[in-house]
Amino acid sequence: MGLTERTCVVCHGDDHFEVFDQPTEAIIGIGDIGYHHRIQICRNCGFVFASPVLPEEKILLFYEKMSNYEHPQSDGLRPQAEKNQILRYFELINKRFPPAFKGKALDIGCATALGLSLFRSRGWDVVGLDPSPKCVELSKKYYDVRVINGFFSPQLLEKEKPFDLIILCHVLEHLLQPDKVIKELGDLLSEEGVVYIEVPNLLKPYAPKCYFGFEHVNFFTPTSLANIAEANGFAVDSLSCFDNGPQVSPFYPVLAMTLRKTKQKFQMKNDMGEVLPVIEKFKNESGELVARLQATVRKILEKIPKGRLALWGAGIHTSQLLSETDLGQAEIACIFDNDLKKDGSRLMGYPVEKFSGDLEKIKKRIDAILISSEASEDIIYNQISYLEDHGIKIYRLYQRSQPG
Ligand SMILES: [Zn+2]
Repeated sequence: MGLTERTCVVCHGDDHFEVFDQPTEAIIGIGDIGYHHRIQICRNCGFVFASPVLPEEKILLFYEKMSNYEHPQSDGLRPQAEKNQILRYFELINKRFPPAFKGKALDIGCATALGLSLFRSRGWDVVGLDPSPKCVELSKKYYDVRVINGFFSPQLLEKEKPFDLIILCHVLEHLLQPDKVIKELGDLLSEEGVVYIEVPNLLKPYAPKCYFGFEHVNFFTPTSLANIAEANGFAVDSLSCFDNGPQVSPFYPVLAMTLRKTKQKFQMKNDMGEVLPVIEKFKNESGELVARLQATVRKILEKIPKGRLALWGAGIHTSQLLSETDLGQAEIACIFDNDLKKDGSRLMGYPVEKFSGDLEKIKKRIDAILISSEASEDIIYNQISYLEDHGIKIYRLYQRSQPG
């Protein structure tokens, strides 16, 4: 598969070097492709980005087919942690406008449009944009919000402009050309309008190993986010850093920035000196974690006969685990996943299936299940721990106690 080479999208310099390599050999919906997510830093401005990356059409197909943003388990209704995230930016954005202001809002990558429904309840005119047809349907069903199905393009929004507010919540880190998108927002935004951007905060990478997932191709700091905005017709109006935690989605530290249009020119800043030690620390912690996971996996593989272990979870965590531990070469019975979209596919040759719940059949096939998820480990454990009463051992990777 041909990969796409990238250069720095902030300063457009081409002097960068690799700071991290995240093997992600197989990805559901894309294939067993031997991919490595290679993370680069720009010497000229300090921006951190992935290159080379999967071709854009492959990534877009993945978002269309495998999108998790429609929340299949809850049929699109947002869990409380996501509501908290949306309520917070709703308050933050409202402070950037005069009291009782009513304008027109656009949410790019709006998922099921809860955020937009809040603005509408204050009298705003709202429209969403999302690549997932399911999200379009659920936005209508739950909040009666109109959502255009597609990826961002100014042509798609020509008839809708101007907007007084454009929201890009956890979108910019996914785009191969975020610079181009920001520049194009200028033409869609009213003169007094505000752009709200929320992205992960690279200065606080949330979890060893997991931070540089293949879906993210840009890794922003307050400096690089300001640089890219200022290079494309905007000035920083406000910056907030939130650590989030278990009560607020996406659970890890984020940057929230509001921007306004300007004709002013800015000097680009370079924060490489601040970023490199953060990545060095991350690299060390990731190395330690992978070694620990490998040791745990080996212990499990020694205990469970060949072909009698199943994994639970066919997401990015499993892709990385299969790439970085002996599980890749072990004989796994299958990979269970609740997501029906994944049912019937394969990950590194292993079949992915929905858990049938038929105990007799399951006992004939497997002796143990290893939960392969960090963020959802507890939720999954609560769902399947009853199997232990029926002689199926459940292993967890992140809880303190080691497998017995
Ligand atoms: Zn640069």
